[in-house]
Amino acid sequence: KPDFAERLAIRLGAATEPATVHALDGVDLHIHRGEVVGLVGESGCGKSTLGRVIAGMLPPSEGRITRDGQDIRALRGADARKMRLATQIIFQDPMSSLNPRKRVSEIIGEAPRVHGLIPRREVRAEVGKLLATVGLDPTMADRYPHQFSGGQRQRIGIARALAVNPDFLICDESIAALDVSIQAQVINLFMDLRRQFNLTLLFISHDLSVVRHISDRVVIMYLGRVVEISPADTVFDAPRHPYTAALLEEIPRLDRRGRRFTAIKGEIPSPVNPPPGCHFHPRCPHAFDRCRLERPALKQVGAGQDVACHLNDGNGLIDTPSRQGE
Ligand code: SF4
Ligand code: MG
Repeated sequence: KPDFAERLAIRLGAATEPATVHALDGVDLHIHRGEVVGLVGESGCGKSTLGRVIAGMLPPSEGRITRDGQDIRALRGADARKMRLATQIIFQDPMSSLNPRKRVSEIIGEAPRVHGLIPRREVRAEVGKLLATVGLDPTMADRYPHQFSGGQRQRIGIARALAVNPDFLICDESIAALDVSIQAQVINLFMDLRRQFNLTLLFISHDLSVVRHISDRVVIMYLGRVVEISPADTVFDAPRHPYTAALLEEIPRLDRRGRRFTAIKGEIPSPVNPPPGCHFHPRCPHAFDRCRLERPALKQVGAGQDVACHLNDGNGLIDTPSRQGE
């Protein structure tokens, strides 16, 4: 089997569409089957747009998304539908994505019924099974969304996504609106489901600490560009992009008590008119002349670690970002 058959490849050019403020600029990403990839960046960096483009919900103006070697937008008819169902997005706010007038049984059973995935008379039993799979009582199938807690509603959203047998889930801030204790439960559920159904997961979050323990690889985005792709362990121990390092500094850590708090200075610039050269230069403590003029390319700097920063050229490697600033 050729290597490309095992991965989802995304090659994107400039902005996705004129009306979209969250432009994507030269994103080139491969997601391997069975992987959990964390996609992290501040709001407005384009990560949600990227999730929608990958899911086929938004057309890229340039570039393509391939899955098992096939361009997802070139497919037609039954093939296109199959491809669309195979990738499901779970959004942040389950309340706005669940129809308040429909019973849970209808919400979860609708897609498999409409697409003829299971015989009509088996839909109800299937819904019960799915509810149990996500840790809910199957006898709750006749209730309405407002009769559930936030965490339970997110589980309903997950059951609805699973109902069409996807092999790839995109979780867009899926736990951001939940209480911290509930967040951990829903993350555990995702990890269980991953094992149970051999899922590939793209976990989108503004919070690096959320993806820390669940991701195999972490992709860091800044203003529409990927600035670092690293194995999860590496990204926390040895971040190689100053923005990644700054994000890490923002995670409160007990063992760092007493250390100077170096949160990222400045506001995230407008994605409509991003700074030239390296987009991060107005906020970067290590910026030098070249950063203001020239866009840094994403280059391999270590095992599985790709970074877009001029400091990584030649022997100008950053040891630790904090030392560089001294
Ligand atoms: Fe900072 Fe320059 Fe690297 Fe951009 S390219 S992150 S401005 S050092
Ligand atoms: Mg978003």
